[in-house]
Amino acid sequence: MKIERVTGTEFTFPTYRSVDSAGHSHPGPETLGRMALLTITTDDGTQGHAFAPPEVIRPYVISSYARKVLIGADPFMREQIWHSLEHWQRGSAGQFTDRALAAIEQALWDLAGRALGQPVYRLLGGYRDKVPAYGSTMCGDELKGGLSTPDEYAAFAEKLVARGYQGIKLHTWMPPVSFAPHPDMDIRACAAVREAVGPNVALMLDGYHNYSRMDALRIGRALEKLEFTWFEEMMNEQSMDSYAWLSAQLDIPVLGPESLGGKHHSRADWVKAGACDILRAGVPGVGGITPTLKVAHLAESFGMDCEVHGNGAANLAVCAAIRNCRWYERGLLHPFLEYDDKPAYLRSLPDPMDENGFVHLSQQPGLGEDIDFDYIEAHTVARY
Ligand code: MG
Repeated sequence: MKIERVTGTEFTFPTYRSVDSAGHSHPGPETLGRMALLTITTDDGTQGHAFAPPEVIRPYVISSYARKVLIGADPFMREQIWHSLEHWQRGSAGQFTDRALAAIEQALWDLAGRALGQPVYRLLGGYRDKVPAYGSTMCGDELKGGLSTPDEYAAFAEKLVARGYQGIKLHTWMPPVSFAPHPDMDIRACAAVREAVGPNVALMLDGYHNYSRMDALRIGRALEKLEFTWFEEMMNEQSMDSYAWLSAQLDIPVLGPESLGGKHHSRADWVKAGACDILRAGVPGVGGITPTLKVAHLAESFGMDCEVHGNGAANLAVCAAIRNCRWYERGLLHPFLEYDDKPAYLRSLPDPMDENGFVHLSQQPGLGEDIDFDYIEAHTVARY
């Protein structure tokens, strides 16, 4: 089997999510969102697919890097392909990103699953077929009845528990919200949510990502009293020493790094430096499913958990393939939005959750994304 074609298809779909000046999602009016579908096709017609924003899977990336490495290659030689692609990253002057690398590698896994008639999570290891989800909220806002006060977080948390979630992670207020960052508001929101849901729901905080050491320490000590499960990306992750400083002083597990580059290499450095108690990696952030597995296996070797960052079929497949990850991150969630409504370009949700808070893995071959190819065809705006 050899790869014959690599293509991108950009299409539109209706969305009620808008993005603020810091890149955070919030509810908004209905607009047309844009998405791209990367498709890898072999000489026997087998295909693998991955969705990514159009700016990630750009025509330049496909023509200059993806096709150069993939055309003619055996799609099952993923490790060789991945290293060849990574080799091109250095000379691309930042144009060939980890996210693009991840989309290509994800499509190769999808292709392998479809070719073998197996769900990808089973090919990756296969540890379980359902994973408990935590509800991951959107960042705080200034929308009345939304997530603008501690009481609104508490009311939303009650709804999430009624929906079945066994865990909830708060993203609190960050610039450009006018009063953010605000450590006292963060602590009040966490206290209000704990009060609302009681002691048996796992709670996590992912607050402002650029707190000082002293603000982070103060919030962390408050979270310890509230019996939170972990404290995530509260400082700039480019300062590993700040995380080592904080982890040494707090009892609550510090989780990271999430947004830091460096793939699995930087995660190894964090373990050695004692900069976190729970490791973090997500498929788009570290360049694919395989490097995410490498991080998870690294963590397991050191007796640590690795919590997988972000939602979607690829992250879910990793969660189901490893033992040392407790949760799947389901979201982002907001009182004004219905997460259980599927996107227009899928026939069903990739991460359906039951009333007990478990997300069930698709048993379809590949990554299990139930792609509506007719919808995409009817809403295509560019092919490359
Ligand atoms: Mg996070």
